[in-house]
Amino acid sequence: MPQPQSGITENRAWAPTGREQDIDCNLCGSSGKRLVAEENRYNVVRCKECGLLYVSPQPTDEDLTEFYAQYFPEESGDIWGEMMRRNFDLDSEYLLRKTGARGKVLDIGCGHGKFLRRFAERGWDARGLDFSPEAAAEANRIDGVQVSQGEFEPGLFEAESFDIVTAWYVLEHARDPMAFVNEAFRILRPGGMFGMRVPNMIFSNVFLAMKKIPKMDKLLFALNIDTDNKSSHFNVIDPPAHLYGFTPKTIRKLLSDTGFSDISIIPSQPVEVGTTGTVVAKKVIFGSTSLVSLVTGHRFNPAPAVTVYARKT
Ligand SMILES: [Zn+2]
Repeated sequence: MPQPQSGITENRAWAPTGREQDIDCNLCGSSGKRLVAEENRYNVVRCKECGLLYVSPQPTDEDLTEFYAQYFPEESGDIWGEMMRRNFDLDSEYLLRKTGARGKVLDIGCGHGKFLRRFAERGWDARGLDFSPEAAAEANRIDGVQVSQGEFEPGLFEAESFDIVTAWYVLEHARDPMAFVNEAFRILRPGGMFGMRVPNMIFSNVFLAMKKIPKMDKLLFALNIDTDNKSSHFNVIDPPAHLYGFTPKTIRKLLSDTGFSDISIIPSQPVEVGTTGTVVAKKVIFGSTSLVSLVTGHRFNPAPAVTVYARKT
């Protein structure tokens, strides 16, 4: 059996169940959509009004529960915390600078709690939420960190009770990103900060275009380190794990429509896991896409993933 380089094993045996339902755009409500790709036997569409990429027909809650039960085996451990180390350092430093010396933070999809640890060590009230019981149990072993097992649902937390709410690589999995961000806004105190990270569809679109160049598939295969599935890097969204694809433009609309301001969208740090070659390749991609973003005054940001900070004013 081939061993994935990163140690993460994904079960790719999943197929649509036939229960999928057609949906309208989550961001603007429009039913106008154009098919852009078929991935893992799901349709990926782009909203004709606002450009949001999403999966439609979409799997039901029941489908997703069954899918996630076999998606990441519990024994996959905390590779995630290590992959996100540099990002978590920068995120925590930035968010601490923007808030007070003490406060209360919630990390949605916190995994083993490595982001929260950075706050607990500074005396913050560090809360987390994760759907994996094993991850929640691990995170609860960290001094000062308190994690519940479950999904981020409306009404779970009190209004205006957090100084910081974060969701790193979560929104692309959400069934209802608009409701998710609205709820994050509701539970933040005025002046509080929201942080999130998502794959950037501008970068995915470049990949989609590259796919059409002869022999390019070999180069793309060589860059693939995050999964043992060699076709996944050809995917724009990769359903059903991901149901939405965001660009800086749709992220800005999502956050400003919710009421957030001071929105900043920056290239995310590359993940330093994999062979030397793939780490170097990721750094080159990060460096070149960051440069493009910088020279265009962040008007064009083609980084593979973007980090987003916004304030509730
Ligand atoms: Zn739309």
